[in-house]
Amino acid sequence: MMMVEPARFAALRGKLERDAPLAPHTSWRAGGRADRLYVPADRDDLAAFLRTLPAGEPVLPLGLGSNTLVRDGGVRGTVILMHDSGAMLAVQDGLVYADAGVASPKLARFAAMHGCGEAEFLAGVPGTVGGALAMNAGCYGGETWTYVARVQVLLRDGTFAIRTPADYRIGYRSVTERDGSPLRGLFTAAWFRFPPGDPATARARIKELLAQRIASQPLQEPNAGSVFRNPPGDHAARLIESCGLKGHAIGGAQVSPRHANFIVNPQRRASAADIEELIAHVRTVVLERTGIELEPEVRIVGEPAPAGEQR
Ligand SMILES: Cc1cc2nc3c(=O)[nH]c(=O)nc-3n(C[C@H](O)[C@H](O)[C@H](O)COP(=O)(O)OP(=O)(O)OC[C@H]3O[C@@H](n4cnc5c(N)ncnc54)[C@H](O)[C@@H]3O)c2cc1C
Repeated sequence: MMMVEPARFAALRGKLERDAPLAPHTSWRAGGRADRLYVPADRDDLAAFLRTLPAGEPVLPLGLGSNTLVRDGGVRGTVILMHDSGAMLAVQDGLVYADAGVASPKLARFAAMHGCGEAEFLAGVPGTVGGALAMNAGCYGGETWTYVARVQVLLRDGTFAIRTPADYRIGYRSVTERDGSPLRGLFTAAWFRFPPGDPATARARIKELLAQRIASQPLQEPNAGSVFRNPPGDHAARLIESCGLKGHAIGGAQVSPRHANFIVNPQRRASAADIEELIAHVRTVVLERTGIELEPEVRIVGEPAPAGEQR
């Protein structure tokens, strides 16, 4: 049970909600609740909030929840909502600065408008800059960390630090501390070095990439993008389709008939358990039939619902 010092907490400007539903904060629109949800007013407020928390209180940052499955039993501890529609973008000394709460498509358009090339791939990644940093989000040959000059992180004790890519181990959809341990601290900002580009060409490229997505992805139905990483030299979608799993459903969750590496929640009635069971089923069938073990790309957090307490 979290205890905060009332006097210190009173000085905070953010919003703290107890027993808060997280489904509205995830793109799957499914899953449980957070013991506490904090929406910081800004990064100094967030730092002050972290200083009020006991050292043992678990803290989970959530951007736009576009790569996250929250189990039905919810998250113990405090979830920090990092997305901020008022977050800042700027050009500083030839680098593009973005607060972590900026939506990645907004960064792509800002970079294009300011004569930067190669940021276009971020236009179709519907998360925050913080989420893109944590996941090393990428597509169409581009990856977030290729362009990172430095980041600002907020550590659990409420202090800030500046880090560079050399401070991390960066891989395909994976970023850890240098020693391979999970990330410590929250990303609060990043400075990107994009090569020069032509604004009109970049805008046209964004349009083209978005059209490709609209044509191939089930964007009208709640989903979390690609569920599985692509195994070396192959595509998860191809393997899943080859096993006849397109359209396969468990409860309210379905392997998208449109894109086999997407699991959708078409009627918004899937529980997180439905989605997780379907993920497990797809892995089992693909392993049995192809010998390839698919690894989930989505992050699964929280506790299962207590037995007999399905949503
Ligand atoms: C339709 C669709 C298409 C997609 N296409 C792509 C694609 O092409 N390429 C791709 O890579 N991904 C894709 N994704 C997945 C997802 O959008 C990306 O992984 C995105 O970067 C996640 O950002 P988010 O803010 O939503 O992260 P969340 O889902 O909120 O969080 C993801 C992880 O990052 C951590 N995190 C979030 N914010 C911070 C922070 N500030 N500091 C530290 N950790 C943090 C969370 O704790 C969690 O572990 C797609 C998703 C959808 C729904």
